Amino acid sequence: MERYRVKPGSHINLEEWDASDAGGLDGGKGSAKDRLEELNEELEELQELLYAEHKRKVLMVLQGMDTSGKDGTIRHVFEGVNPQGVRVASFKVPTRIELDHDYLWRVHQQTPRRGEIVIFNRSHYEDLLVVRVRSLVPPEVWSRRYAHINDFERLLAEEGTTIIKFYLHIDLDEQKERFLARLNEPHKRWKFSLGDLKERKLWPQYMQAYEEVLNRTSTKWAPWYIVPANRKWYRNLMIATILVDTLKGLDMKYPEPEEGLDDVVIE
Ligand code: AMP
Ligand code: MG
Repeated sequence: MERYRVKPGSHINLEEWDASDAGGLDGGKGSAKDRLEELNEELEELQELLYAEHKRKVLMVLQGMDTSGKDGTIRHVFEGVNPQGVRVASFKVPTRIELDHDYLWRVHQQTPRRGEIVIFNRSHYEDLLVVRVRSLVPPEVWSRRYAHINDFERLLAEEGTTIIKFYLHIDLDEQKERFLARLNEPHKRWKFSLGDLKERKLWPQYMQAYEEVLNRTSTKWAPWYIVPANRKWYRNLMIATILVDTLKGLDMKYPEPEEGLDDVVIE
C-alpha cells in the first residue's frame, strides 16, 4: 500500500503508473471478494467506534476521470457500514451562489463533524483540474490554489480531521470500454453525456493537471494515494485496506461508561 502513497515533493509521471496493476494478486475474484467482506466488517466496527468516541473526523477525497469508479468505490467499500455515520458530498458544477464566493466556501461547509466520515465525490481539487483544463479562471488565479488548499487541509488536520485522498487511475483504453458499456446497456445510458467525450479529448491536459496536483498537494497531513483502478476488485480492495489501516492507526477508544452501571436494576 505504501507504494501507492505519493511522497511530498514527488515528480509523478502518470504514464509510468500501471492502471492495470493488481499488486501481484492473480485476481482470483472469489478471494478478493472474501477479503473485501472482511474489510467491510472491520470498517463497520471502526466507524461505530469513531462515532462513539466522538472526537475525530475523517475525510476521504475521491478524484478520477469519468468512469474511473468513484461511485462504485463508495458502494462497495462502504457496504454494510451504518449509513448514519457516513455522508457523501458530491461536488458538481458550482451554482451561481457558490461562484459568488471563494471556491472553498462550499467545500468547508461539507467537512466532517466529530464522529463522522465524509466522502468527497469530487472535491476542491476540481478547482485545479477542470477549472485549469477548461480555462475557467486565468492561470494566475488557479496557480495560487495549491498553497491555499495545502493550508486549508492543514487547518482541518490540526483541528482533528484525518484526511486521505485517492486518485483513481484508469487509462484511456479502459475509459473507452466503460463508455461503450454505458452506451450499450440501456440502464446505463443515462450516465453518458456527449460532453464526456469532450473531456476525453482533453485527456493529456487532465493528466498533466493531475500530476501537478499529486506532486504539490500530497502532504504529511493529507496524503494522496494513486490507486490502480482498471480492475475494480483491486481498486476496492486497495481503498478499503488503506482506509481500515488509517482508522486503526487512530487508536480510538470507546468512552468510559457512567459509574454505577453494575448495580443497575431495570424494573
Ligand atoms: P459527475 O461527477 O459526473 O456527476 O459530474 C460532475 C461535473 O461537475 C464534472 O464534469 C466536474 O468536472 C464538474 N465540476 C465539479 N466541480 C467543479 C468546479 N469547481 N468547477 C467546474 N466544474 C466542476
Ligand atoms: Mg460524469
